[in-house]
Amino acid sequence: MNRQLASRILLQSSWQGALRRSFALSSSCRRFCTNVENHQRHSSTHHPNNKSHPISSSSPITSAATRYRPVSFYRLTPLSKERVEQLRKQIFDQLTTWGVVGRIYLAPEQGISGINCQIAAPIHMLPMVRQFFDGLDMGQIEYTEGLEDLDTPCFRKLRVMIKKNLVAIKDVLPANEIEIQKEQHLDPEEWHRQLSEKGSDAILVDMRNHYEYDIGRFDHAIKMDVDTFREGLDELERMMLARPDKEVYMYCTGGIRCTATSSYFANKGIGKNLKMLKGGITAYGQYIRQNPKEQSLFRGKNFTFDDRRGERVTHDVLARCFQCGAPCDVLHNCANTQCHLLFVQCDVCRTRMNKTCSDLCRQVLEGKRTWNMEYDYHRQIRPSLLCNE
Ligand SMILES: [Zn+2]
Ligand SMILES: [Zn+2]
Repeated sequence: MNRQLASRILLQSSWQGALRRSFALSSSCRRFCTNVENHQRHSSTHHPNNKSHPISSSSPITSAATRYRPVSFYRLTPLSKERVEQLRKQIFDQLTTWGVVGRIYLAPEQGISGINCQIAAPIHMLPMVRQFFDGLDMGQIEYTEGLEDLDTPCFRKLRVMIKKNLVAIKDVLPANEIEIQKEQHLDPEEWHRQLSEKGSDAILVDMRNHYEYDIGRFDHAIKMDVDTFREGLDELERMMLARPDKEVYMYCTGGIRCTATSSYFANKGIGKNLKMLKGGITAYGQYIRQNPKEQSLFRGKNFTFDDRRGERVTHDVLARCFQCGAPCDVLHNCANTQCHLLFVQCDVCRTRMNKTCSDLCRQVLEGKRTWNMEYDYHRQIRPSLLCNE
């Protein structure tokens, strides 16, 4: 694979100006989003004395005819440490008996507290699952369902984990100051109406990671080309201050990142023109599915934090294979587990490169070379930084 090609691909898909910054990387690596890559990388690590180690189940016992529906929701709400422990056990025990799989994060009120839930539930169990979560006394939960039902669930097991923060901005946002700014949360219909009206005039910011943007995005969206959530907030603040009278629209996968962001700016008193898509792209995809006469302003795939790695909203293929440049929007992790890069790879290159991202990784996988690089988060999210000698 050659670096020139990699740079070219990045150039094609990058937000101008941010490109320069992308090479001036900071060494701190708080996640720009929830820790999906790290989680995937370390998912096999268990420590019996570590309270944040997950409770996890193996595959549920279900009949061959069972169909699953992806469901997601989050609630930012103060929960005591004891309550979080209790919830972890209660949720795990109950969902396991119903054959629900997925990934659930809980966080206590010392950080960004609440619950963030992505599950796949047997369809006939859905009413009970909802009733169960509604009964946990965490306030009104708004569920978002996936676009397609599945024969095989998009998670292999159920994992219920305790984290310090649901969103990585604890140092800048006191947990007790998270409030939903209702008038700034646009439901998909209102979001669609306002953005259709404004077209390319709208300042529209994608609050997700690079690879998420690359495979699917709203028309005219700005790629927030930063490595940490904090850098993203600073960038957004700069945009708002530069155009104080203009509305700024932001969106993410399911809404949790934007909710924390709007609270952060509300606390600073500078976010009155900041608007977010309620329920994120997931809810917008549902809206488009239910209103087929409306033309989707989102194109391509919505990245999902599960085995599907994305849910198709429209048939547009926006990304290119990182190795050959062919149109492709299928994300894979590099098969060299020490590398684990998440990147777009077409079937031809996947075979040719033995499911790896580079000659180095292929040779490591084939036992011809040894891996001597440190794990580097930046490298994991930026294929352009791959070291190919
Ligand atoms: Zn290819
Ligand atoms: Zn690799």
